[in-house]
Amino acid sequence: MIPSKGYAVHNAQDKLAPWNFERRDVGANDIIIEILFSGVCHSDIHQVRSEWGPSKYPMVPGHEIVGRVTSVGSAVTKFKSGDLAGIGCMVNSCGDCGNCKEGHEQYCEKGKVVWTYNAVEHDGTTPTYGGYSDNIVVNEKFAVHVSDKLPLSGVAPLLCAGITTYSPLRKWKIGKGHRVGVLGLGGLGHMAVKFAAAFGAEVTMLSTSPDKEKDAKRLGAHKFCLTKDAAQVKQFKNYFDFIVDTVSAPHDYNMTLRMLRTNGVQICVGIPPSPIQLTGQLLLGNSRAITGSSIGGIAETQEMLDFCAEHNIVSDVEVIDISTINEAYERVLKSDVKYRFVIDIASLK
Ligand code: NAP
Ligand code: ZN
Repeated sequence: MIPSKGYAVHNAQDKLAPWNFERRDVGANDIIIEILFSGVCHSDIHQVRSEWGPSKYPMVPGHEIVGRVTSVGSAVTKFKSGDLAGIGCMVNSCGDCGNCKEGHEQYCEKGKVVWTYNAVEHDGTTPTYGGYSDNIVVNEKFAVHVSDKLPLSGVAPLLCAGITTYSPLRKWKIGKGHRVGVLGLGGLGHMAVKFAAAFGAEVTMLSTSPDKEKDAKRLGAHKFCLTKDAAQVKQFKNYFDFIVDTVSAPHDYNMTLRMLRTNGVQICVGIPPSPIQLTGQLLLGNSRAITGSSIGGIAETQEMLDFCAEHNIVSDVEVIDISTINEAYERVLKSDVKYRFVIDIASLK
């Protein structure tokens, strides 16, 4: 077993604190990565607090991982020692079903996705632990190559916030000629703005925070709508082809449905803890649709990272010491993050 150091919680009320644990040994198809940066996703907070149903404790969160490969198993071909590598939300799946074979491992038909933390390996007993730690052991298939052209702290959030917004924008072929609203300017929202603008769409930031207008425009938004102001919301009635909804808390889905034009689509990527409520007439009246999307497959994650390296796209980050992680969570909960916290794992040592 490999001795590891990280930050963990032991129950839903706990604060994150230093914790020593063990990782599995490096198998033939595994690589071990010395973690350099680990992003802080709102999903970490949901799971730390058991907001999506009971979590598994102790939990080491973190699924936006960038680091350097320090050793590889005997059968590994994709990486060598010294390479940069990234890991996102998944570390395994069945590999055999239609969805896995088509590169949609996150939708594994056998339900055998193994999440990077808050899960157990296929042996049914070994817990998975995430990126708020000094190393991680992973099957090479679930690691992606990271370019050395971009600042690594800004790359880490691409492994979740990046792919989660890139994937549905690509699936719906969003680009030139489309009006896109992005609801919520946080980790996912700021990446949705960057990608939608890079793909040529007209982007409007839909935010509850008036002080984010300037940043939204710097990130690539063409317009800004303060969603707390009914008069501003009304100006966008029947306006958007697509709305990417990144909000983490319960909110008014009818407000955004009204903003969609005929055949408009609301793509939900935020995962509020409670069920959503919709008014049927708002859907059928204008043939609107509401759909969801979960992260993206491994091949598409590599495609997204390559696109970012080519177009110089990274996340806007506040790099923090791991000792300040609990305060960072409080700031995320107040929508006060510009626009992703990333832990410098050197601060663990
Ligand atoms: P985040 O950084 O906290 O951003 C969420 C943003 O939503 C906030 O900055 C805020 O933006 C807005 N917001 C917060 N509370 C609100 C409320 N009560 N009403 C309206 N707007 C509110 O979170 P994140 O890391 O981007 O994650 C967002 C959500 O996506 C989380 O639920 C997370 O679990 C989920 N997620 C899903 C996937 C997936 O695969 N689908 C992957 C990763 C994360 P403004 O200040 O602009 O209003
Ligand atoms: Zn995430």
